[in-house]
Amino acid sequence: KKVADRYLKQEVLGQGTYGVVFKATDTKTGQTVAIKKIRLGKQREGVNITALREIKMLKELKHPHIILLIDAFPHKENLHLVFEFMETDLEAVIRDSNIFLSPADIKSYLLMTFKGLAYCHDKWVLHRDMKPNNLLIGVDGQLKLADFGLARIFGSPNRKFTHQVFARWYRAPELLFGAKQYGAAVDVWAAGCIFAELLLRRPFLQGNSDIDQLSKIFAAFGTPNADQWPDVTDLPDYVEYQFVPAPSLRSLFPAVSDDALDLLSKMFTYDPKARISIEQALEHRYFTSAPAPTDPAKLPKPI
Ligand code: ADP
Repeated sequence: KKVADRYLKQEVLGQGTYGVVFKATDTKTGQTVAIKKIRLGKQREGVNITALREIKMLKELKHPHIILLIDAFPHKENLHLVFEFMETDLEAVIRDSNIFLSPADIKSYLLMTFKGLAYCHDKWVLHRDMKPNNLLIGVDGQLKLADFGLARIFGSPNRKFTHQVFARWYRAPELLFGAKQYGAAVDVWAAGCIFAELLLRRPFLQGNSDIDQLSKIFAAFGTPNADQWPDVTDLPDYVEYQFVPAPSLRSLFPAVSDDALDLLSKMFTYDPKARISIEQALEHRYFTSAPAPTDPAKLPKPI
């Protein structure tokens, strides 16, 4: 049976933050798609008003490194979002111990991630939920950012879903301190965590609560002082932490190039106002110095 007289439902791909995702065929184009069913339930009225306008905006995000939102429509109690189908994701690549990632491979994945992010930041759209399993990879090796803007439309991902816990590891310190007004810098911090994860092949800062997450951040970069982050004490959930000195970043990433280390340190700048922008990150010498990024078609993939 077809959905909306157009999509032939196939198997379930997985359970996401907002609902189930299934594979389908678009009978109009023959294309394989992924349909995300979002339960609206009682929220329905409210979501219709605010979300549909935002979804219209998401449909206008068109870039080689952003998952294309092909279609969006309400069906029964659910909102259906139709995306291009993607083979795998960066989390699967990072976790696959049979895959060796060279510095050139890592640079290629980062370049694609940053380009997608820069396009959205240029349009004043934040991702807010950057993590390796939101970076989808197509058969051609092209990486595309998924779930753009969904966090904003459907509210902060619900913490009662266990899989959401992982998003904490990518959360910027200003969010952990309860900042209500935040900007593109939260995505840059998360992108820095993904950079570190590609290098280490395991999540970099694995906190098991928000407080613990901050402790992990401070253990890695030292407790922020007033020079580094003048406004930190004004944040709603600010609490003073016991002083921890900053170890050298080099000791955490012993094998990486100086260029990579310099870019990492700029992405992990405490003060969101002083943190490098994604635009500036793309201009960093890391991306122009050797080795050149691997051609996406030649990137290693899980079998
Ligand atoms: P989460 O909310 O936890 O990030 P998602 O809702 O994005 O999860 O996705 C749930 C499942 O559906 C995951 O297993 C993911 O790999 C799969 N999935 C999501 N989008 C696509 C897509 N465009 N193509 C193929 N699989 C997808």
